[in-house]
Amino acid sequence: MKLATITNWAYGTTVALTLLSGTTMLLASHAQEVEEQAVEQRYLLTKATSRLGNDIFELTEHARQYLDTGQANYKIAYQHDFEDLEAVEKRAEAVATAGASRNEVAMLQDAMNWADTLHDEQAAAITAFDSGNEQQARQLLFGAEYERELDRVENLLGRFQDRLDQRIDSQIEDATQISDIWKTMSEITLVLTALMFLCVLYFVFKRRVLSPVVKLSDVVNRLAAQDFAVQPPEIDQIDEIGDMAQAIRIFRENGLERQRLEAERNADSQTRNLISRMTQRMQGCDSLSDLTEVVQRFLPEIAPNRAGRLYILDQTRNAVTEVCNWSSPTMSQPEFAPASCWALRRAMPHRPSGTHIDVPCPHLDIASHPEDIPDTICMPLSSQREMIGLLYFEPLEGEEDNAANARHDVYLRMVAENIALAIGNLRLREKLREMAMMDPLTGLANRRRLDAVLEVELARAARLDEPISCLMTDIDHFKHFNDTFGHEAGDHVLQEVGKLLQHATRDPEMAFRYGGEEFLLLLPGFDSAMALERAEEIRRKVSELHVIHSGQELGSVTISIGLATAPEQCGFNLILRSADNALMDAKNNGRDRVEVALPYDQRNIGQRA
Ligand code: GH3
Ligand code: MG
Ligand code: MG
Repeated sequence: MKLATITNWAYGTTVALTLLSGTTMLLASHAQEVEEQAVEQRYLLTKATSRLGNDIFELTEHARQYLDTGQANYKIAYQHDFEDLEAVEKRAEAVATAGASRNEVAMLQDAMNWADTLHDEQAAAITAFDSGNEQQARQLLFGAEYERELDRVENLLGRFQDRLDQRIDSQIEDATQISDIWKTMSEITLVLTALMFLCVLYFVFKRRVLSPVVKLSDVVNRLAAQDFAVQPPEIDQIDEIGDMAQAIRIFRENGLERQRLEAERNADSQTRNLISRMTQRMQGCDSLSDLTEVVQRFLPEIAPNRAGRLYILDQTRNAVTEVCNWSSPTMSQPEFAPASCWALRRAMPHRPSGTHIDVPCPHLDIASHPEDIPDTICMPLSSQREMIGLLYFEPLEGEEDNAANARHDVYLRMVAENIALAIGNLRLREKLREMAMMDPLTGLANRRRLDAVLEVELARAARLDEPISCLMTDIDHFKHFNDTFGHEAGDHVLQEVGKLLQHATRDPEMAFRYGGEEFLLLLPGFDSAMALERAEEIRRKVSELHVIHSGQELGSVTISIGLATAPEQCGFNLILRSADNALMDAKNNGRDRVEVALPYDQRNIGQRA
């Protein structure tokens, strides 16, 4: 129940009790008045009746003294008193007015009638005494008859008095009883009112002071233990306790804010840590697939409320192609033209639904979000002032918290820069590796490259049980070109022959400069007959070359070719040596020719080595 309801009820009850108490007090005082009246009445009646008795006895006394002494002053006193005596009715009326009942008045009147009879006898006795008849007078006043009458009057008056006393006593007793009852009632109601007041005070104290203080102290304890999830009680009373509750609320809000800032700071440092670790790992990547693994592992942690894709720009195909994604993005196509992305067009991050309104990129599939454009972010990746790709983010379902993401933007930009840097490094390293594997003069793969390719191709052929052929080629009398036309002319001859050999294979990667003026062709899947055919064709084409250097015809160029096919003529691991031996045979047999290696059991392998 509400405190206001309780206090209202309490006030109502208190008012009722107070009224009741007042009424009982009034009633008690009324009863007391009745009692006082009865006492006063008794006094008045006693006074009135006692005068009656006095009058009778005084008159008797004066009359008798006159008879005894014959002194006139007694007679005068008697007459004076007698004259003062009022009529019986008047005296009875006086007694009735004083509060006697009709019965009592009748009883009194009876007594007074007898008293009047006595007065008559007194008067008769005085008259007889005055006329000298003392005997008769004495007979009248001192006779037994007179005494009896006097006794009767006295008795009547006494009875009247008793009756009066009895009645008034019972009246007083009744009045006192009623007065006592009302007084007790009044005292009880007073006690009840006081109890009521105490109860209300207790409730008010408990509700407004004790329980808020207990609740607040509990909240303070929990706040002191850094438990800011505790809810301070809603106390809106305007007093010290209300002020205390307000202060505790403010203290809790400050604590929450401090906790939030701390959490933000922690999250920031965690994100920075993640980015730094991601950058370190990316720097150690050897390939794009290594790099995408790192990106897929770290980005869901760095931007937990966003899915995304990493795209690489393929300049030759004019396409932006996805190389990896994380957290299942749905809105951006896996491949699109660079012009479909505003970030790539403007070389700036693009966020159509960020703090500024912008147009969504055409590569976004936003048909499922026709009303509100999703908060996607496209970040162009560039390295060495060249656009190399795109980092794309989209919000996860139900995670569109722009304010929180705004803080993350900086980190996303850092991530994009680091990824771009890592891809740039990878490309640079790739280029360097290629350069290390390539012969700069002819553009063909060099011997180092041959070692790697040969290992793979021989293993593959062995695994698939397929033949593989090797053409070891050497320009005949090459020294002659150097000597006759100069070193540069010799270089030119090497370039021309190299170009021709490169186009002589289906896969240009299979033509190598073996060293000096020696070249090597690998023909996976070619048996000896097919390879011989190809070798003859190459030899013919070279012999048909017209090499011109500095406007000068350098004359015909011929080559000798040694052909070996594994596993037809040799084991896979001996193919180079067999081809080399065959080449030696070609040289020995007159040059400008193709020689096929002999089956390995017919030749003393390692002859040339
Ligand atoms: P053979 O028919 O027996 O192969 O005779 P050859 O002259 O072709 O062979 P030799 O080994 O005697 O000479 C090869 C020469 O090729 C020697 C070297 O100076 C020259 N040479 C090697 N590499 C280059 C190069 O990169 N450029 C130029 N211009 N000459 C080179
Ligand atoms: Mg040569
Ligand atoms: Mg040579």
